Amino acid sequence: MADRYQRFSTSPLGRVLVRKLGLPSPAKLRRYRPGDPVVAGQVLVGSSGGGRLAKAAASVLTSAGADVVTTAPEGDSRFAVLVFDATGIGDSAQLQDLHRFFHPVIRRLDSCGRVIVLATPPEDAGSTTEATAQRAIEGFTRSLAKEIKRGATAQLVYVSPGAEDGIASTLRFFASDRSAFVSGQVVRVGVAEVTEPEDWDRPLAGKTALVTGASRGIGAAISELLARDGASVVCLDVPAQGDELAEVANRIGGSTLQLDITAPDSPAKIAEHLAQRHGGVDVVVHNAGILRDKTLGKMDDQRWDSVLAVNLSAQERINDAVLDGALRPGGRIIGVSSIAGIAGNFGQTNYATSKAGVIGMVQSLAPVLARSGGTINAVAPGFIETRMTASIPLVTREMGRRVSSLAQGGLPVDVAETIAWYANPGSAGVNGNVVRVCGQSLLGA
Ligand code: NAD
Repeated sequence: MADRYQRFSTSPLGRVLVRKLGLPSPAKLRRYRPGDPVVAGQVLVGSSGGGRLAKAAASVLTSAGADVVTTAPEGDSRFAVLVFDATGIGDSAQLQDLHRFFHPVIRRLDSCGRVIVLATPPEDAGSTTEATAQRAIEGFTRSLAKEIKRGATAQLVYVSPGAEDGIASTLRFFASDRSAFVSGQVVRVGVAEVTEPEDWDRPLAGKTALVTGASRGIGAAISELLARDGASVVCLDVPAQGDELAEVANRIGGSTLQLDITAPDSPAKIAEHLAQRHGGVDVVVHNAGILRDKTLGKMDDQRWDSVLAVNLSAQERINDAVLDGALRPGGRIIGVSSIAGIAGNFGQTNYATSKAGVIGMVQSLAPVLARSGGTINAVAPGFIETRMTASIPLVTREMGRRVSSLAQGGLPVDVAETIAWYANPGSAGVNGNVVRVCGQSLLGA
């Protein structure tokens, strides 16, 4: 789905003007469709000496059906994915290995290609020099993500020592078209007991998921994707959205739960419904959210209170309720923050407070979930094409779309794919992360 500017910029006249005036040039992003391979072209895996992840990465991508090579073939054949294991880098001098690997091959990266750098979390490094060098890699990947055009993306995945066998779901996500709108991100994979799904196309078979705000927009896309991945989805929304909610649930073979999550008795009702009707829940997605924008001096109590109630307090109370038994061991809680919660935004003191609070909720609950083999993570969407963003005035809307490395808005499905990666049983080591789904927006970067 291309927006109007994107269509113009790829027309013959548009192409000339874009080049002459230096305007943004949004590429058509390739998105995953069921049946697509994880990676369609060749994968080059390299490493700095003594890296502990290159072998595991090559084996994950080979078993996903990819054509993996460890030295670049002569000529100008192209690569769909470049993976570099940087865990062998022990000091700043060795950072030159990044340049040595990428410099000769970066111009051979396909459109919509992927760069994945694997590294050791600085906090797990064995020395101060190693920690410094490993931290330096963030600057490299974030900059590279800004340079590689034509819909390509770059990410840094920090993998704790001992978590080498738990990277399959993360590599498969970032190597594939599922991560089309995620770029310039830094992700941590920790040590956990990982059970990989028997069928990577239906990783949530036999699982139950709850999605709040499921009747439209991003929530409907999340429900559809979790159902595609095999989950039985309980779609929740306010009674006023009942018809649209039923439509989504019918389409995906799910069920509905109509209530206002801010009502005092809702958390208990939700936990009871999940326990009695479904024998528990495996995935809880807190997607319901509202905006009530005004600058602080003009913001009445109602605007402040309602936003904080829906976007944060209700979620905390639902967590308390489901953690009291309904959430099965290994369960996943997923929050929907926003880049406004990271960067702040004009007229959004209430919204940004609530969305920064979602990040706080993820960080504070991550150790609690880990005790039962579960995880809590959040996505922070940037500009996503929904009814909400369609109502933003034209100039602000255009700014929101273009001020990012991918120079376009994302789709609800992009947020949903990231959530599906968190929900995957193979992602047990992915805990406490906040991943921006924003095409590397410059806001809060
Ligand atoms: P939307 O307004 O289209 O959908 C939100 C849904 O939440 C609606 O169906 C609404 O009825 C439901 N909801 C609201 N209050 C509720 C309550 N008290 N109880 C139960 N359900 C309730 O919004 P969207 O654009 O699809 O956004 C979904 C989430 O993504 C929100 O949390 C939003 O803050 C976040 N987000 C969106 C964008 C974007 O660009 N669209 C960017 C960043 C973050």
